[in-house]
Amino acid sequence: MGGLFDLTGDAALVTGGSTGLGRQMARALAMAGAQVAILSRRWDAVTAAAEALAQETGRTIVPLVGDVTEGGQIERAIGEALAHFGKIDVLVNNAGVNIREPIERIRDEHWRRIWHTNVTGVMICCRAVVPHMRRAGYGRIINIGSALSLVGLAERTGYAASKGAVLQITRTLAVELAREGITVNCICPGPFATEINRSVLEDPAKSADLLAHVPMGRWGRLEEIEAPVVFLASRAAGYVTGACLSVDGGWTAA
Ligand code: NAD
Repeated sequence: MGGLFDLTGDAALVTGGSTGLGRQMARALAMAGAQVAILSRRWDAVTAAAEALAQETGRTIVPLVGDVTEGGQIERAIGEALAHFGKIDVLVNNAGVNIREPIERIRDEHWRRIWHTNVTGVMICCRAVVPHMRRAGYGRIINIGSALSLVGLAERTGYAASKGAVLQITRTLAVELAREGITVNCICPGPFATEINRSVLEDPAKSADLLAHVPMGRWGRLEEIEAPVVFLASRAAGYVTGACLSVDGGWTAA
């Protein structure tokens, strides 16, 4: 990619960037020219992913260790990213978890884990990065919501509530930061065949039930998350803020 969507000279940080959609988005941002840091909880996983991505893209990919629910760890990781790049232009809040349970069986610890990761984690990363973006007068924050930011689905009360909150964080910060050169947008993916969907992928009946919601009738292909993130990360998307970009095969249009 180049031209309108060229990210040469920009520095990006992708949370949960060692697997699935996060890894794919980190790759896309690097291919578009950005310097990229990926953050994950485990040093072995994040360094292995960074090395593989560096080979695939020919760029330096910086591995960072941190848990998005731990403010101190995130402050330290952001400090490391700043030491490498001197700035963070693009923050992709992608780290997330899903635990599926009917209402009567929701366990408090699962509810807390979903909420802390998917909601508090986004707030913690934004809180740590925004002061640097404000100083620079420029920033692109991209939160990863879900089709379940917009519609309900049985046995996903915690997850859907958390992803609805991600969309509201997006809108609120978009308004708060609108005059600072910082845009805040949300990508709302439909089903992609990643680790988070393992239990669904392993069960053909559950998989068919899920795809029945998708007018295109298929899983998203990992590469189909690339253009949306590069677009929202680009300078070309400067007047787009507070938006929800659905990448869901038509799920939420139906
Ligand atoms: P995934 O399980 O491969 O990725 C989730 C990543 O988040 C993992 O790398 C995991 O290690 C990381 N993570 C989890 N908790 C963390 C924490 N506390 N601190 C740091 N990192 C943490 O699955 P994925 O599909 O790539 O999910 C990425 C994002 O996309 C998630 O926010 C998910 O909710 C969202 N999403 C996925 C789908 C889908 O169908 N795959 C659909 C809609 C939204």
